[in-house]
Amino acid sequence: MERKNAWTTYKTTEEIDQFSDAYRAFLDQGKTERECVTFSVAEAKKHGFTDLAKAIRENRKLKAGDRVYYNWMNKSFVAYIIGKKPVEEGMNILGAHIDSPRIDVKQNPLYEDTDLAYLDTHYYGGIKKYQWVAMPLALHGVVVKKDGKVLPVVIGEEEGDPVFCISDLLPHLAQEQMEKKGAKVVEGESLNLIIGSQPMAGKKKEPVKEMMLDILKKKYQFTEEDFLSAELEIVPAGKARDMGLDRSMILGYGHDDRCCAYPSLRALVDYEGTPDYTLCCVLTDKEEIGSVGATGMAARYFENITAELVGLLQPYTDLALRRVLSASRMLSSDVSAGYDPNYASVFEKKNAAYLGRGITFNKYTGSRGKSGSNDANAEFMAAIRDIMDKGKVSFQTAELGRVDVGGGGTIAYLCAKYGMNVIDSGIPVLSMHAPWEVISKVDLYEGYKCYCAFLKHASAIK
Ligand code: MN
Ligand code: MN
Repeated sequence: MERKNAWTTYKTTEEIDQFSDAYRAFLDQGKTERECVTFSVAEAKKHGFTDLAKAIRENRKLKAGDRVYYNWMNKSFVAYIIGKKPVEEGMNILGAHIDSPRIDVKQNPLYEDTDLAYLDTHYYGGIKKYQWVAMPLALHGVVVKKDGKVLPVVIGEEEGDPVFCISDLLPHLAQEQMEKKGAKVVEGESLNLIIGSQPMAGKKKEPVKEMMLDILKKKYQFTEEDFLSAELEIVPAGKARDMGLDRSMILGYGHDDRCCAYPSLRALVDYEGTPDYTLCCVLTDKEEIGSVGATGMAARYFENITAELVGLLQPYTDLALRRVLSASRMLSSDVSAGYDPNYASVFEKKNAAYLGRGITFNKYTGSRGKSGSNDANAEFMAAIRDIMDKGKVSFQTAELGRVDVGGGGTIAYLCAKYGMNVIDSGIPVLSMHAPWEVISKVDLYEGYKCYCAFLKHASAIK
């Protein structure tokens, strides 16, 4: 069973190019989960969505056709379009995550060592640490003052901004380092970000650190104590770029999982008219570290917000909420490992995801005998095939690599616990979790078409 290359199904690439340009702009604005939520709220408002939190406060009832969003702690985002049918017939849900692997600044990070000022860090998610040294890095995040005022920080993205860097050892002296295992070539505690080198005049003790504090104070109204209540994320500096002579791919930071999050969001906000079933898009935080915390999918924010929604549609009961959730169907989208001819041995070619062959469905992910996977039902996969054909979507099916080579998890099993039909889907990526990842533009666009078709055609599974 071969799947054909999706590019061959297009006469012109105009729509793909337009969508890709908009996606690159999203990637450039959304390098952290917070920035992605800010973008999503603005996009939702532009498309007629109103704040569900406000409707809840005012106890304003909702009706078919209403479009609402919820900003959860500035790190996760949920939006709905109310359908004509009773919500207990379930929702068509698109889910993806908006956090990406990166390096976080520690709480007490600033120090000086041998005339250099550093920020100490703790990496976030599964990174190959050696990939993040000797390249331009930017600092994104927030500092929250004691009075609750939130100061956004973005340094290293504007033309003319300074950037930062983690140094690597010169090859001339790296004989011992080069003998080490990959995981140890650069160790976690060596990921120290150089932020300055100029001593402050007249200071005897830690003059470079003093200089940094002086700059932070003057430029960003930020004291050393403020690091305690800051969330600063170190990410690759610079914009996403078209890749290849034919511009058929995008090289960017954070495709995992923003290349699924963006088309999911767009499919919902672009939906015109009043749907039969209630439609939903959830963009969540913390997937890369196990969906933990109050903004991760393992928290109950999605269930709670949906409970509020049910309460504004009909007299609330616990049973009604359970029915809504268990009757729903969901595309849990997360990137797939794209087949890489350079590393062919880790893939099983019949069941691998290929760049250019469209959106990928993973019936299951997991590792060591499907452990930790969702394993969607055949009945649901049959419905998906039908929906994809209705939407003329190019799709493929895959597993994450050869059996027993490795594996990974997604948010699918967390939504499946409600009893809803969930399947993993996503866009194939090369160099996943590297500072710069690669996707195909046609897969991105097939993703968008897939999400649009799912919102339009998915229905209760008999
Ligand atoms: Mn990931
Ligand atoms: Mn992911």
